[in-house]
Amino acid sequence: MSYMKIDDVRKSFGRYEALRGVDIDIAKREFVVLLGPSGCGKSTLLRMIAGLESIDSGDLMIDGQRMNNVKSANRGISMVFQSYALYPHKTVRQNMEFGLKVAGLKKPERDAKIAEAARILQLTPLLDRLPRDLSGGQRQRVAIGRAIVREPKVFLFDEPLSNLDAALRMQMRVELARLHRELQATMVYVTHDQVEAMTLADKIVVMRDGLIEQTGNPLEIYRRPVNTFVAGFIGSPTMNLLDARVTSVSERIVRVDAAGLIVDAEIDGEPPIVGERVTLGIRPEHLEGQFGTGSGPSLDVIACERLGGVTHAFTRFSAGIDLTVQIDGELPISPGNTITCTAHPGRAHLFSAETGLRL
Ligand code: ATP
Repeated sequence: MSYMKIDDVRKSFGRYEALRGVDIDIAKREFVVLLGPSGCGKSTLLRMIAGLESIDSGDLMIDGQRMNNVKSANRGISMVFQSYALYPHKTVRQNMEFGLKVAGLKKPERDAKIAEAARILQLTPLLDRLPRDLSGGQRQRVAIGRAIVREPKVFLFDEPLSNLDAALRMQMRVELARLHRELQATMVYVTHDQVEAMTLADKIVVMRDGLIEQTGNPLEIYRRPVNTFVAGFIGSPTMNLLDARVTSVSERIVRVDAAGLIVDAEIDGEPPIVGERVTLGIRPEHLEGQFGTGSGPSLDVIACERLGGVTHAFTRFSAGIDLTVQIDGELPISPGNTITCTAHPGRAHLFSAETGLRL
C-alpha cells in the first residue's frame, strides 16, 4: 500500500515538457532518491510534491488525500534546500523556532521540539550561534533541524550535500541514514550523485528527459540496469559499453567478442542470433587486469587512478577502444604499461545495439 502516489504527473514550462508522465509509489518510511543528470526534471518533481510548483495533470496523493490543490503549508511536508536558506541574522535556535512561532506553538512546546532536534543533530552547543559562525556541515544540520521540528509527514531534500566538501559529504551521508532510521520518516531526496543514491536509498528512481528510466532498490539497479543509459549512470567508474558481435548462443548464455575481449553473458529475454551486433556492458570491477600475456586482448595503460586498495586503469585496446579496468592496488602499474584482461564470468550485461534495451 503506497503512502505517497505520484500518478502520471506532467509539467510544461511554455512549450517545454519538463515532466512527461511520471509514476512513483512511495511506501511509508521509505527513503526514495530521485537520480538523474542535470535538467532531467527531478527538482521540478520535488517542488511539485512540496507545492512550490503547480501540477499540470496527473495526481499527487499523500496518505490517501489528493494534494494537487492543497497549499504548500498544509501538506505536512518540510523541504531542505541545497542553499540551506537560513536566516542570517537569527541564531540557530531562532532559525529552528521561526516556523513553530508562525504555526502558533507556545514557548514550552517550541523549546521541547528544538531541544529534541538539537539532540538528534548534535547542535545543542551551537544553539546560540549565528549561521555565519558555523561550518557548512553545521549549517546544513540547522537546515535539517528546521525541517525536523515541524514533524512533517514527509521530508524533501534537494541536493542537500552539494555545497559540502568530499569528506563532509560522506559524514553527512552517514548522518542522514541515521536520521532516517531514528525519525522513521518518509523521505524523498534529489541528487545527481549516484554514490549518494546508492548509499542512502531504499528505492532509486532514475530519470532522464522528464521520464523515469528505472525504479528499483540500489542493488537491483546496479545488477540489472534496464538499458545503456541506466547502466552508464550507476557505478563509478562507469560501466564499459562496447560494440560486440555474438559468436555463440547456448540457451541463456551468449558469447560475444568485443575487439578480442571474449565474454559470456547470461540473458533473460529473446536470445540474439550468431553474428548479431550488440552492446556489451561490463563494469571495471568485473574485469581482471594482469601483467604478462593472458588469454585476453592486450591493453595500453593510458592513465591510473590509485585509490589504495584498488587502482582504476584507463586503458586502450589495439583497436582504439577505451576500457576501464579495476586492478589490485598492490600491482605496480603505471601509464605506458601493457596489461591483459579477462572478464569475471556471469557479470557482463548485453543490450540491443539498436534500442539500448537490456537483452
Ligand atoms: P539540476 O540537477 O540541474 O537541478 P533537474 O533535473 O533538477 O536539474 P529541473 O530543475 O527539474 O532539472 O528542470 C527540468 C527542466 O525544466 C530544465 O530543462 C529546466 O531548464 C526547465 N525548467 C525548470 N524550471 C523552469 C521554469 N521555471 N521555467 C522554465 N523552465 C524551467
